[in-house]
Amino acid sequence: MTNTILVETSARHVHLSEQDLATLFGAGATLTNKKDLSQPGQFACVERVEVVGPKSALKMSILGPTRKATQVEVSATDARSLGITAPVRESGDIAGSAGCKIIGPCGEIEISEGVIIAKRHIHLTPETAAERGVADKEVVCVKIATPDRSLIFDDVVVRVSPSFAPAMHIDTDESNAAGISSNVDGEIIKH
Ligand SMILES: [Zn+2]
Repeated sequence: MTNTILVETSARHVHLSEQDLATLFGAGATLTNKKDLSQPGQFACVERVEVVGPKSALKMSILGPTRKATQVEVSATDARSLGITAPVRESGDIAGSAGCKIIGPCGEIEISEGVIIAKRHIHLTPETAAERGVADKEVVCVKIATPDRSLIFDDVVVRVSPSFAPAMHIDTDESNAAGISSNVDGEIIKH
């Protein structure tokens, strides 16, 4: 039995649909893997886009592979800077979320929804979830110990799938709030 989990910080990024990739980067364009991420099959891309809101624009990395729907994940600080009111949502749950403009080298798109602040979450396989005594969709706390800003996060959603690798994902605001400077282990505390 273990209750530790690797905590990774996700900076603002964009997921693109096939169709939006073609509009932004040209017909037949493909994403170029720059760096594999911890989740199997997921990678950071060489290609970048500009996300434009009413108040400012931010350059963002694209995470591959392409998805069914385009999604922009920002921190609350990014959203404020862009002038966008984005809801806290789990990835993929974009109905009625915020919109923005996205500019690529070959074109631009306007999305009416898809901008979210990602809800903090833990990825586990069935085996690693069993080791920690937690289940899919369970909400837990995670204690993160750092030299000056130790913090216990509540409202952490557990997601379980055989295609995951064990990791907790938080955004840059959450990471800064806890004084995290590199990947650390958190301690899962059940409700
Ligand atoms: Zn994640």
